[in-house]
Amino acid sequence: MNNLFGRRAVVIGSGIGGLSAAAVLASYFEQVEILERDQITAFVESRPGTPQDRHPHGLLAGGLKSLDEILPGFEQELAAAGAVPVKIAEEFRLECADIGALPSRDFGLSILCASRPLIESVLRRRVMAIGNVSLRSQCRVVEILADTSVVRGVRFDTGFTRSDTLESDLVVDASGRGALTLSLLDALGWERPEFTEVTLEIGYSTTIVRFAPHDLPQWKLVLTEPDPPNSALKAVFVPLEGDRWYITIADRRAVPRLETWDDFLSTFSQLEMPTLSQVFRHARPIESVRHFGFSANRWQHFERLHHLPHGVLPIADALCRFNPTHGQGMSSAAMQSRLLRAAFESAASEASPIAAAQAAFMSDVKSVIQQPWNMSTSVDLAFPEAHGERPENFEDSLRFQARLLRAAVADPIVHRALIEVGQLLQPHTLLHEPHIRERIEAGSATTIALSGS
Ligand SMILES: Cc1cc2nc3c(=O)[nH]c(=O)nc-3n(C[C@H](O)[C@H](O)[C@H](O)COP(=O)(O)OP(=O)(O)OC[C@H]3O[C@@H](n4cnc5c(N)ncnc54)[C@H](O)[C@@H]3O)c2cc1C
Repeated sequence: MNNLFGRRAVVIGSGIGGLSAAAVLASYFEQVEILERDQITAFVESRPGTPQDRHPHGLLAGGLKSLDEILPGFEQELAAAGAVPVKIAEEFRLECADIGALPSRDFGLSILCASRPLIESVLRRRVMAIGNVSLRSQCRVVEILADTSVVRGVRFDTGFTRSDTLESDLVVDASGRGALTLSLLDALGWERPEFTEVTLEIGYSTTIVRFAPHDLPQWKLVLTEPDPPNSALKAVFVPLEGDRWYITIADRRAVPRLETWDDFLSTFSQLEMPTLSQVFRHARPIESVRHFGFSANRWQHFERLHHLPHGVLPIADALCRFNPTHGQGMSSAAMQSRLLRAAFESAASEASPIAAAQAAFMSDVKSVIQQPWNMSTSVDLAFPEAHGERPENFEDSLRFQARLLRAAVADPIVHRALIEVGQLLQPHTLLHEPHIRERIEAGSATTIALSGS
């Protein structure tokens, strides 16, 4: 390999962020070692370090595209492993009280639906097939080591009361919280970055169901959106491998904790849209109910620091965690890894390529976080009980969002633009381009007239 940036890179954590980053780093370091606190097996299974993996994990089209660019053929392998293809506006029903449902249209766009353990295992298999990448499981990193402001490696526990160290030229913190990078800043006496938070209490209840072959639902995927401030419930019905479907209620603590299938049925009967209640008449639950609590979107602005200690990079959830009901975390992680690749490419001819790659990544990372952040937090802030700074023009943006949805019902071009932006395939600015704005104004007026007639 030519133009190597260093002998070893260490990646902390083998989630979607860590695995996709390791695939990128393999082209720039002699050796890439992923250290993971969990025991990793060859099975497709849930694990304690990612308790969220027992709940649906939608991979947006933009995230899938990024993973496929980093690891060509990934999409095909995920499909071959059993992921379920879903045509976005044809087999995927998006409902909200304001507009009813977006119409079924064929845009030639699709996504792949699978459990998080399957997505991760296909990704892991691909990354582990890269000759210079290895994964050490049951290794919990306890400290990022540095001399003055230069990272030298990590200290980790193996679970056998042994503590060990591993030298490295670069440490990527994909541990999900960024706590190790923050502790490094503390140890060096540097300031921690500012953070932005939008807090809200969300309770997840998930079960898995099957249908008899002659009673398959009309829709492969249904999302029933909440209607702030009137209805706090979000319902998710999404397929996974093995002819199964996840059913999730994200309740913003609006209903008592759901424990049984009957609790699900009675909660679904409270939804204004009857689609899912009808679907569930034929559903058979095959697993007990699992719960998860989530309380804050949190963006740790490492990108605002003047610079980072040489040789450390936080990535994915360690940088920014989104309200999971919007299904953006894995896609944002994959898009950040694609950005990491661009940062390394651009730094290749620099005298200090690691520092240059760190700086390039940090100066551009806002461009891939801002859009999912705005999409996620603007829905959350529409609930009066959510805490966080509401932008000055917040009421205007809510009105624009309502017009956009109404126009998407009337106009296929607006509908397609809405999907492409929501799936992170296009920038949000697309919706403000004059030709789309005009259609939004015209389309929303048409729909109001229609629904009023
Ligand atoms: C309930 C819920 C539902 C979600 N639904 C979706 C969804 O629909 N779509 C979507 O895209 N995203 C979803 N997400 C978000 C998604 O899980 C993450 O954003 C995404 O996986 C990227 O995370 P990551 O790789 O940064 O961290 P994680 O996936 O959390 O992985 C971090 C890894 O680091 C390991 N680790 C932690 N500390 C250490 C240490 N000290 N030493 C070694 N290893 C360590 C952990 O064991 C873990 O393997 C959801 C999240 C939650 C909570």
